[in-house]
Formats: sequence, structure tokens, C-alpha cells
Amino acid sequence: MSTGSSIGRAFLRWFVADQSDSAPAGTGSGMDVRSGARAAGGLDWWRIVPFVALHLGCLGVLWVGVSPAAVLVAILSYGARMFAITAFYHRYFSHKSFSTGRLTQFLFAALGAASTQRGPLWWAAHHRNHHRHADTDQDPHRPGDGLFWSHMGWFLSSRHFGTDLSRVRDWVRFPELVWLNRFDTLVPVAYAGALYGLGEWLAAAMPELRTNGLQMLVWGYVVSTVVLIHATLLVNSLAHRWGSRRFETRDESRNNLLIALLTLGEGWHNNHHRYAGSARQGFYWWQVDMSYYLLRFLEALGLVWDLKGVPAPVLEEGRR
Ligand SMILES: [Zn+2]
Ligand SMILES: [Zn+2]
Repeated sequence: MSTGSSIGRAFLRWFVADQSDSAPAGTGSGMDVRSGARAAGGLDWWRIVPFVALHLGCLGVLWVGVSPAAVLVAILSYGARMFAITAFYHRYFSHKSFSTGRLTQFLFAALGAASTQRGPLWWAAHHRNHHRHADTDQDPHRPGDGLFWSHMGWFLSSRHFGTDLSRVRDWVRFPELVWLNRFDTLVPVAYAGALYGLGEWLAAAMPELRTNGLQMLVWGYVVSTVVLIHATLLVNSLAHRWGSRRFETRDESRNNLLIALLTLGEGWHNNHHRYAGSARQGFYWWQVDMSYYLLRFLEALGLVWDLKGVPAPVLEEGRR
């Protein structure tokens, strides 16, 4: 292939995540491909450039300034999308720990996609591989490969660009989810545009709030998204290194209160590796799990049902 067309193809991949166009994770001679990519540096500059640009975008606060309205929207934007990631991308799409209707499923998949952490099928396929191969050579973000790799090197490598559809056969029958997964950049772009529009509308309708479109874009999307991405990634990196181990699992997973607070409950990661099928990750009343409380609220509204619990023998094992 000529250099020109390969650059064109790489550029196109920002907008169309074509599943067939890179080696799927966790199949065939996966390990050779991955260690080969890692040995050669393995990082995909077409993924790194937008990722770095997003971080540099945080410097925009120096130009746009700050207002209470913009900070409030940034916090709400973080909380809503973190809930979509933990409750839906993770507990629902990856582990099926509760049931919901098709519309709710799609709406939370779209909100999860606004987190700029790729599509729901990509996320679930990689996460299922993580559980299947936790802390072994086949783990997409094995902590043994260094903090940088387990935190973000893994998804910045071309090795993990594609979605291994064989891991998410249960979801490919929903064309709307496949579509969302394929055009996974469109949602964050639309989300950022909506925040810009909100800021411009507030500037005109309520000038006393002292905000505007660019300020809302920088705080509500850029800053909020950077913090959101790194908080989520901490579960892969630090929650396999730092914290306590209530259960003797085969991996190095840990329970960590700080990560649980930041991620609305995902910090009880050792619990989760012991029993991943539960809708709650804080197994005991004192293990704060905001996503679970919010799921119970959605259950009361009739939007989700069949929340799976933790079997009594597992709870007993953890008390010992
Ligand atoms: Zn893990
Ligand atoms: Zn999991």
C-alpha cells in the first residue's frame, strides 16, 4: 500500500472505527503480535495526537476563564458520563449484571460513548479479555508491563484499535450498538458541540452567569473528559497495584476507597474480580458504590431490573 493511502486510511479511522482493519485482541497468536508491537514501540501516533491535543486543550482555561456555571456543568458532565461507563459499559455491556430495555440500553451506550473511551462493543470486548486473562500475557492492560502501559499505553497502541466481535456476539444483533461502535468519534464531537451551544445560549439568556460557548466547551467537555478518562483508567492500572486484598483471587486486583469514590464504585476491584457478575461492587454496606445506588434508583423507576447480587458464600468468604 502506498504511504498516501495508508495516511488517508489512518486519518479515516478517527471517524470510522472499522472492526476488520486491525488484528483483534485476544485471538490467534495475540501475544506475539502484541509483544511485537510493544517491542517496536507499538504506539499508534494517529491515536496519540488527538489524545495529547485533548490534554493540551485544558490549557484553554487560561483564555476562557472560569465561572461557577462552567465548573458545575463540568462536574455534572463528569458524573453522568462516569455513571454511563461504570453502570452500563462495565456492569451491563461487559458483565450483564442487570437487564434493561432497548431504548435505555441505547441512550446509556450513547452517553458512555460521549466519554471518549471508544464504543460500547470495543470497551466490553477488551474488558472481557481483561477478566479472562487478568494479569497474564493475554491481559490487554497487564500491570506487569509497567504503569504507563497498563494505564494508557495499551489503548494508544494499534494492537488494541480493533473490536474483537467474537467477544461480544451477544451485542452485535443490535444494529444501533454496532453503528455507535463504528462511528465512535461522532458522539463526543456532538456532545462537545452541544456544550458549546449551551454556553452560547446561557451567554445570551443569562449574562449574569458570565459564561459563554468556549468556556463551556473547555470546562464541560475538555477538562471534564480528561479527568474522566484518567479516573477510569486508574481501575486498570492502580487498582491492580495499590490497595487491600479481601479475596484471594488469581490476579493482583485491589480494593481502594479513593478510586471507588472517584469512579462511583469501581474501586472495589478485588471484590469485582472475585465475583464479576454482581451489579454491585461494594459488597458490604460501608463500601461506597454510587453507581449501585443510582442503579437501584433506576430500578425503582422501572428502567432497569433483575439486578444480580452477590452470593451469600462469597460475602461470607470476604468477612473472614
Ligand atoms: Zn481488573
Ligand atoms: Zn469487570
